[in-house]
Amino acid sequence: MMGRLVEVDDIHVRYGDLVALRGVSLAVEEGEVVCIIGPNGAGKSTTLAAIAGGVTPEAGAIRIDGRSILGQRPEQIARLGLSLVPEGRHIFGTLTVDENLRIGGYIQRDRTAAKADLERLLELFPRLAERLHYPAGRLSGGEQQMLAVARAVMTRPRLLLVDEPSLGLAPKIIDQIYEILLDLRQRAKLTLLINEQSSNRILKHADRIYVLRGGSMQLEGRAADLQDGEAIRHAYFGFG
Ligand code: ATP
Repeated sequence: MMGRLVEVDDIHVRYGDLVALRGVSLAVEEGEVVCIIGPNGAGKSTTLAAIAGGVTPEAGAIRIDGRSILGQRPEQIARLGLSLVPEGRHIFGTLTVDENLRIGGYIQRDRTAAKADLERLLELFPRLAERLHYPAGRLSGGEQQMLAVARAVMTRPRLLLVDEPSLGLAPKIIDQIYEILLDLRQRAKLTLLINEQSSNRILKHADRIYVLRGGSMQLEGRAADLQDGEAIRHAYFGFG
């Protein structure tokens, strides 16, 4: 059944004197692929961090399944079915693919469940299955991004928050990463909230787009209605 999974309502976040978010609102329905686009420093990572409980807004509300999560610790929020793929992947280069994935399964109750999750995951990521005993640092950039996504999926989340998965990857590889993310939506029933700096390759993959600039939402729309890129450019650069 479709329902509102995430609701961010007019949140304000500051780091000391610096105001990072000045009244940001967004909503993600179950099963959607939603992308937040914005330039460097717009507040995209801060928005994901607020949802995941890494930073606490000084005003506003965040609800998961209609219930406020404000003030809850990240591990409590994770238990509601959220998982974050941080910018820069944060994989352990000297550990093998297998070891990196097992680290992701750490909140699993028991070993049997973790093993079953790993097996299921390797079906979704055949490239990683082939490289299970390689040191992760020897994988290509695209494979490392896949590993970061796979690790986040180990805990069977309902919502995956992905911070700039395209960063530093070639266009062809970016498309492959998105194919995997969309496949996960189908097969693992995932809802996706993704940050990107550029709308170039995202418009064809996302259902809805938000444009964030200077800590404020500038635009919201269905990707299908924004295909020519004009409205996004205006919102992104702030002219017009
Ligand atoms: P990027 O693409 O660079 O990750 P972003 O859109 O994700 O950009 P944020 O990382 O959310 O933006 O940063 C928003 C603002 O908050 C920026 O001005 C940034 O310098 C500042 N900021 C982010 N994290 C911190 C922090 N821990 N302490 C102080 N300022 C921070």
